[in-house]
Amino acid sequence: MPKPNSHHSDSHSFQSVDVTPKGELHDKCMALASNLWWSWTPEVERLFRDLAPVRWRELDHNPIALLAEITSTQLYQRANEMVLFSRINQAYRRLKEYMGNHQTWGSTHAGVLGAKPVAYFSAEFGIHESLPIYSGGLGVLSGDHIKSASNLGVPLVAVGLFYAQGYFRQKLDRQGTQYEEYDNTQVEKLPIVPAVNQFGDAIMIDLKTRTGLLKIKVWKLQVGRVSLFLLDSNVEGNEAADRQLTSRLYGGDERTRIRQEMVLGIGGVKALGAMGIHPGVYHLNEGHSAFGPLEVIRRRMTEDGLNFNDAIRDVAIQTAFTTHTPVPAGHDRFSPELVEEHMGPLRDELGLSYEQFMGLGRVSPEDSSESFCMTVVGLKLSRTANAVSQLHGNVSRRMWAHLWPSRCEEDIPIGHITNGVHSQTWLANQMRLLYTKHFPVDWINRLGEPQVWQGIRNVDPGELWETHNTLKARMIAFVRRRLISQAELRNEDNSAIKFASNVLDTNALTIGFARRFATYKRANLIFSDLDRIKTLMNHATRPLQIIFAGKAHPKDQPGKAFIRTIANLRDDPELRSRVVFIENYDVNVCRHLVQGVDVWLNNPRRPLEASGTSGQKVVLNGGLNLSILDGWWAEAFDGKNGFAIGQGTHHVNNEISDERDTESLYRVLEEEVAPMFYHRDDDGLPREWIQRMMHSISTLAWRFSSDRMVMDYAKHVYLPAAGGLSCEM
Ligand SMILES: *Cc1c(COP(=O)(O)O)cnc(C)c1O
Repeated sequence: MPKPNSHHSDSHSFQSVDVTPKGELHDKCMALASNLWWSWTPEVERLFRDLAPVRWRELDHNPIALLAEITSTQLYQRANEMVLFSRINQAYRRLKEYMGNHQTWGSTHAGVLGAKPVAYFSAEFGIHESLPIYSGGLGVLSGDHIKSASNLGVPLVAVGLFYAQGYFRQKLDRQGTQYEEYDNTQVEKLPIVPAVNQFGDAIMIDLKTRTGLLKIKVWKLQVGRVSLFLLDSNVEGNEAADRQLTSRLYGGDERTRIRQEMVLGIGGVKALGAMGIHPGVYHLNEGHSAFGPLEVIRRRMTEDGLNFNDAIRDVAIQTAFTTHTPVPAGHDRFSPELVEEHMGPLRDELGLSYEQFMGLGRVSPEDSSESFCMTVVGLKLSRTANAVSQLHGNVSRRMWAHLWPSRCEEDIPIGHITNGVHSQTWLANQMRLLYTKHFPVDWINRLGEPQVWQGIRNVDPGELWETHNTLKARMIAFVRRRLISQAELRNEDNSAIKFASNVLDTNALTIGFARRFATYKRANLIFSDLDRIKTLMNHATRPLQIIFAGKAHPKDQPGKAFIRTIANLRDDPELRSRVVFIENYDVNVCRHLVQGVDVWLNNPRRPLEASGTSGQKVVLNGGLNLSILDGWWAEAFDGKNGFAIGQGTHHVNNEISDERDTESLYRVLEEEVAPMFYHRDDDGLPREWIQRMMHSISTLAWRFSSDRMVMDYAKHVYLPAAGGLSCEM
């Protein structure tokens, strides 16, 4: 296993903690900060926080940035004051144990991948708020996937892009208009090091296009046992525009996009080759990396002397493709000119004609009016393909049926593996302590097992309720803090700041709604009938309040209009203390919200939500889902583990769909959610509600954990692919 980027030997003695030399203490803290393992290990996270609580928050919980501000001497003094020596030593020892442990699920069940790991490609990775290389759900899923692969010991390396400016920071002006700010990431404040080859030389990759050469360097980030390689075009010798190529996530035009995807797919395969890594499986998480297998095919042809047809067959067996997009317009498409500019040199080496190559990206290869679609390439170059929920599987088979004209819809070779979340990342510490008290001792290593979560039945309802309310109060304190600083940044007056510091009622039924502001997610559905929602929210004995957060894509004007509408509700005296909008939704905001809400609202237009994962994070922490039967919720809801909006049907006419869903949403809130939440027994406990919380935890937490998801990928995709067997889910 690769070592974190500081220098120390294994032979240090930990016995007499108080004689730990200053330099060694600093090295150990750096080693802990250099492996993202710390981010899902609460003891280590708290260690960093205790070093400098205020700076910790101000620095976006970035331990490298924190340590950069503290000299070894100051660190030593601080550790002395806080009696941190033994905690630092123990955390360091645990990291070593974690990295050295070979008794894992993966070693038993996925041993053959040891010499031929999975290469997992994704355009974004949402691992922690201090690493801005993600925009939303796809990235967080990738992050959770590699964290679970690490915990389970499934041999896997990950490949992504290094975005020097990441995704944007969202701010709203006084009119509620979103504007975007881009920060320049300081590389030295991130836990990344240049990736090197076997001789210790930094990797540099050349990519040929018809219009010139593009040079790529490679960073390495350690996420537990998984190495994540990030490709970066900011290299001397590249043209100025190319040096910016990978600076922003989903920025720029079509040409920027195809160049980014060339870097990710082709550059990624070349980088792994340059490091002597020989993957047994290529997992393409969404179409952005679908050029990658073409480079693998080229290698097979030159190294093993295969012809194109044999090479494509062999490589497809090794390749798995996951699609996430249930709308045709959401799939990347490029013009033939752009494809030829970037893939031309590779096409020559593959010995394909222009038309043959374009055909790889078309449903009908001969139809020159069809543009080149990355999803089509992904589907054609992979033997195994999957959607990300059961319902999304149906949608995807229908959507791509014309690629297999001789098959009926059920036989279209696209299966599904439903997404899950990394429990340790999203679970509140208080809940973790509660589970530890009542679950089997090794529960944290068995998160994907149903029996483990039955332990929730041993928890006293009063204890669960109290824990939840502590977390809810903590979340409301976070929300107020954020609203105060938002008001300060907008130079609002004292009364606004005072208002923000008391807004929301800790005892009121609290709903969270946070996600990308794509229009199909219908963030403002609940305000369709303002009178009705005002009555509900201001009910004398059963009040209701909502916390919103989410970014709109910079070019999505309708999405931005939704944000403006919601933000401006603060001018409405009947709603201003019931509706708040938190700016700059990210992993940190998400974590706070999912840990404290009573109810998580999700009302997309069915069937456009491929899976959705934020509601799964809520489950772990005892919140209840109130959702359209779409994505994961369509297969998760059993009548008692949350609440459903609608009947799991949809109408082709959007207006009719919206009307029906609105009516159902109000009805469920009025007749089920609010009465159940406010119905208290003599002890002040909402018994039926707590039953639902327990039922939600016991039926859903294991099923929608990324441990279960990665085990499914290992069993149904990775092992067959590595063993050369074809497999359809
Ligand atoms: C979990 C998460 C998402 C995905 O949630 P959805 O339910 O798919 O919207 C998006 N953004 C962030 C920051 C997240 O943490």
